[in-house]
Amino acid sequence: MTMSDEQRGSGVSSFLIAHHSGTLYNSAMLKLSNRMSRLGTETAFDVLVRARQLEAQGKNIIHLEIGEPDFDTPENIVDAGVHALKHGAHHYGPSAGLPEARKAIAEETARTRGIPVDPAEVVITPGAKPIIFFTILALVDPEDEVLYPNPGFPIYESMIEYVGGKAVPVPLKEENNWSLDVDELERKLNPKVKLLILNSPHNPTGGVIPEFDLRRIAELAVKHDFMVLSDEIYRRVLYLSHYHSISTYPGMKERTIILDGFSKIFAMTGWRLGYGIMRSDLAQQVSKLQTNATSCTATFTQLAGVEALQGDQSKPEEMVRTFRERRDFIVNGLNDIPGFRCKTPDGAFYVFPNVKKIGIPSKKLADLILEEGGVACLSGTAFGANGEGYLRFSYANSKEKIGEALNRVRKTLMDHRLIPV
Ligand code: PLP
Repeated sequence: MTMSDEQRGSGVSSFLIAHHSGTLYNSAMLKLSNRMSRLGTETAFDVLVRARQLEAQGKNIIHLEIGEPDFDTPENIVDAGVHALKHGAHHYGPSAGLPEARKAIAEETARTRGIPVDPAEVVITPGAKPIIFFTILALVDPEDEVLYPNPGFPIYESMIEYVGGKAVPVPLKEENNWSLDVDELERKLNPKVKLLILNSPHNPTGGVIPEFDLRRIAELAVKHDFMVLSDEIYRRVLYLSHYHSISTYPGMKERTIILDGFSKIFAMTGWRLGYGIMRSDLAQQVSKLQTNATSCTATFTQLAGVEALQGDQSKPEEMVRTFRERRDFIVNGLNDIPGFRCKTPDGAFYVFPNVKKIGIPSKKLADLILEEGGVACLSGTAFGANGEGYLRFSYANSKEKIGEALNRVRKTLMDHRLIPV
């Protein structure tokens, strides 16, 4: 007996050919859940795919689009991962993470933020990204409001919408040094606001929220009773002397979920290792989500992570010094291009120049720079509507390549008479 169309769930009687990712399927039309239409994506990966296509056609591309260090993971960390694999770290572990890794993370967080942290308040995930998903899944009901930075990491809005929450953008403005306007934030508060997402240092702008503003936001969180997801993944890629976490202000330890991880500062993006610090009752729920989604994080990567936190710190420190030099280099170079205006960011490895004077939409400009100039960068609109008029360049590339990229951008704009020749 062959299945009927109805059993297949196609809902149509004729034979359909669905076309997906270049494969022809002689079967029923794919009927996705409604919620999939609300799921966004990260354009950086799409641009990377297009850049690779151009490379396959023989074009030389300079990659300034993707948010990962161009350094290799430090050797002591690689050795610890290999050692773990050679000594039996081959099996499932507890969903919340290995006890020794949770302990190492709790100690590191307590030391660096100056708050007490118990290992029961740590959940280790494959990369830090699942902390965004799991936190939102655990806390947000349909109709709940979640405030998030715009421009901002696109996954926030995507996840809020996916679970049926109401995504309320909090604009970040260049004139505010890419921090949020706390008065404007306050005006958006109402009893439906369940969660505020902060990201400092910030992707895509490199902005850092000043301590004074953090303190005021903390007071609002306590007064209006909402939680804060504090995305601190770029905490150590900082060009200021002190880092301030919102978790340290009165009443905030129990209201904050700190997101942090190993991807950026230890150049471990491909290992997939991140974590969240949160009250232990929430940690249990988030662990349950992890049991459902991935079971656990790979055990050998967690053991490499312990070495990352407790071993020699000279490589990450050197990396940040190099990023600082490149930051100054790219900011100067961009400000030398007519029509570009670029602030000097205080953290992360991105610059977010204002390109409004060039006079064409950011997406069109980013496409032109890639297709003709051979420089992959992102349109500010990849980070939300408030990114119009800006581009994001990652300076996780050599000074030599950045210099060449700047020349190419200038030439492309001149060729198109977008800037004076
Ligand atoms: N949060 C921000 C602001 C990021 O930019 C990224 C990665 O680009 C992440 C979270 C996710 O980090 P991971 O690669 O560890 O999942």
